[in-house]
Formats: sequence, C-alpha cells, structure tokens
Amino acid sequence: MSLTSATLARYGRWLANHGAAVRAMQWFVVAIYAMLVVVPAFLPLPDDGARALDNLTVFAQWAFWGLWWPFVILSMFAAGRTWCGVFCPEGTLTEAASRFGLHRSPPRWLRWAGWPFVAFAVTTVYGQLVSVYQYPKAVLLVLGGSTIAAIATGFVYGREKRVWCRYLCPVNGVFNVLARMAPVHFRVDRERWAANAGHIAIHPVNCAPMVRIRRMTGNAECHACGRCAGHLDAVTVASRSPNAEVLDERTEVSVWDAMLIVVGAIGIAIGAFQWSASPWFVRAKLEATELIVDHGPAWLLSDTAPWWLMTHYPEANDVFTWLDGALIVGWIVATALIVGGWVSVWLAAAARSIGGAWRANAYALAYTLIPLAGVGLFVGLSGLPAALAHGEGLRLSWLAPARAVLLAAAAAWSMYLAYRWVDGRSRRGEEERLSPSRRIAALLAMTIANAGVLAAWYPYVFR
Ligand code: SF4
Repeated sequence: MSLTSATLARYGRWLANHGAAVRAMQWFVVAIYAMLVVVPAFLPLPDDGARALDNLTVFAQWAFWGLWWPFVILSMFAAGRTWCGVFCPEGTLTEAASRFGLHRSPPRWLRWAGWPFVAFAVTTVYGQLVSVYQYPKAVLLVLGGSTIAAIATGFVYGREKRVWCRYLCPVNGVFNVLARMAPVHFRVDRERWAANAGHIAIHPVNCAPMVRIRRMTGNAECHACGRCAGHLDAVTVASRSPNAEVLDERTEVSVWDAMLIVVGAIGIAIGAFQWSASPWFVRAKLEATELIVDHGPAWLLSDTAPWWLMTHYPEANDVFTWLDGALIVGWIVATALIVGGWVSVWLAAAARSIGGAWRANAYALAYTLIPLAGVGLFVGLSGLPAALAHGEGLRLSWLAPARAVLLAAAAAWSMYLAYRWVDGRSRRGEEERLSPSRRIAALLAMTIANAGVLAAWYPYVFR
C-alpha cells in the first residue's frame, strides 16, 4: 500500500472513529454560520468606507461570498462532498431535527429527480432579484429561509437522515455533479463485503444521505462523512483518476443532471453573473424605459416592490423597479436558453455522430462539461470578492487574465474528457466500430459547444 493510499485510509478511519469530534466541529460551524447570517441583518447598512475588519456586515460578505461559496465549489473538485458531510450547517441541523421529529418516509413528490435543477434555478434567479450578495437582509431571507426549510424537512421526514440534502437542497444537484471529478472517493470492495458479511462484527452505519453503500460506485450522493470507512473491512477512502467517474460506462446518466450542467450551472449561471455589468442590459433597459414612458404601463417604472421580492434599499440608492425585475428574470432566462440551447444542439450533434442511443450519449457527453461548468461557477463567484477587494483598496490587474486562463484550462479538461469518452465508445468493438470521420465529427461538435461557453463568458471576464 502506497503512502498516499495509507494516509487516505487512515483519514477515513479517523472520521469513522471520531464522530464526536466531527460533530463538535459541525456545531461550531453552525454557531458561526448563524451569527453571520442573523446578526448583520439587524445592523445598519455599512457605509462606503467600511472594511471587513471593522464591520461585521462586510466581514460576513467576505465570509459567505469571498471564501465560503467559491471555495466550497473548488473543494468539490478536490475532496468530493466533504463539505456536505463534515462541515455543512444545514446538513447538521436537518439531521439533528430528524432525530426528534415525525420520522415520516419521504413521499414520492419529494423524491422527484427534477428538484435539484428547479431549486438551483429558482434560488439563483431569486438571489439576483433580492441582491443576495449585497444585502444582509437578503442573506437572512435566502440562506436563513433555506436553513429553516432544511430543519422543517428534517423534522418531518427521516430518522437521523438528511432528506433535505438528498432531495431538496438547492445546491445538491451542483455538488452531485462536481464531486464526480474528485480524485478521492469511498471505494467499496463488494467481494470483500460479501465475504465478510456474517463473519465479522458489524456496527450498523447510519448513512445520513441514504446512500446504498454496498452498491456505491461514485461520489455523486456520498457526503464523504466517513462513517462507513472500514465497514466490513470493505469500505475505504482511496485515490482515483479525477476522470474515472465520468468515463466509467457503469455510471448512470440522467436528463436532469444534463439539464443542471448545461442549462443550470452553465446557462443560468452566466446570465445571473453577467446582467449587472452588461452594457447590453443597460441598453435594453434604456430602450424599454423609453417605450414605457411613451406607451405605458407606468407602474412598470415604479419601485413599490417590497425588499423581500426585489431589491429595495432607498438609503443605499438601490431600488429595483418592476421593469428591472422583469428584465433581470428575462435576461437570465434568455441567456440560459441561448447558451444552454447552443450547447444542447452541439451535444445532440456529437451524440448523433456516434450513433446508437443518441439521447443517452448526449446526456453522458454533458457530464464531460462538468469542469467548464464548475470553474465557470468559481469564476462567476469571484466577482463579489473582487468588488470587495476593490473596496478595500486592492487593485487586481491579474484578475481578468487569471479568469481567462482558468476557463481555458477547464475547457481543455472538458475536451479531454470528451475525447476519452468518444475514444472509449470507439474501442468497445461492439456492433460497429466508430469510423475516424464520425469520431472527428463528434469531437468537432464538442469543440463548438465548449467554444460557445467560453464566448459567453468573454464579456464577464474582460468587462
Ligand atoms: S456512503 Fe454514506 S456513510 Fe459512507 S461516507 Fe458516504 S455519506 Fe458517509
């Protein structure tokens, strides 16, 4: 056993044997999270000169949007869903609530596979409408509301389980797909499991996200909590190629995951990150305003919406009109349809070139875009910390080139995955081997899909 394997295996065993220490740390995170979500909402808005070290609201902005979100996204690429299983305050709270609650079984509507996409889309758009990155009351509403929903779900459903995390959490779907790229996983040796079952003492494992551990083949649903490490001497933390799960033909693919990657994490995210800095958005707003001034209805230009529906902070000279709200929603939806549509068309073209069950192939090829989708989220989330750093007097001239390099590297990784995926299909030697021209056509279509995503990011990167 190599040093790395031994260290990883020890790490897993440590998690399994130190549940009390992990729980203590989880409740410490809950306390910090509660303070940063709740307290700033009851403080006056910071003035222009406020800094992170002398203002709790600015500190909380840094903590949530400068560190927490971007680096949780990156952590999925490095350590799978360790954030979910070891640190996440909502996971801790929903599991704790399910210990004392009604213990009902999750009903069918709650287990609908489309929730991760719908929850991500709705939360992203709503977060833009209430300016969740800027205002602590909006943070309390969006993050606090999500936490209350997590606790309520835990209270009603499951017994010491994380029903919320498994089915309803707005970022479950994104974490589910990003974690597939992690170079570590909880590996299950099924033969050893079968051989040892009934022969060695079994300590029941409470897998809070309800993974069928014996059949687990990847990171998508596993929260990497470590509780099953060493179970039946058959489960261990192990390293693997970061490409393994996407290229593994046994991995199940789904249309909802494909939607989440292509329309959600790529299309909706680009629209949400871009509208506020887009000159085209400003022009559309000016033209729409002129049209409404001439022809009505005038109420579209009023700013009577409450702060919990749309941004309304007169003291900060920041109020959205109904027109602003309509344009923001329209912009994000249109971007999602255009960018997502572009990628979908070329995924379909690539899948058609390969032949066979083209829909299933198109869904599978969508997973090759995970690096580009995940790095795009990281780059988009770097916008607020960059603005905060600007407010602290820092000049980040390297930011645009760094973002461009990151996105280009992610696109190269996605293309490499596409190449390996197509190559794998070509070598199977089934009914017919793929001719070189069909392979080239498939890869050309994937290149155009990736190029379209990079082009869509261009205005944000070099604004
Ligand atoms: S399979 Fe379940 S118990 Fe095992 S590490 Fe993953 S989440 Fe934890």
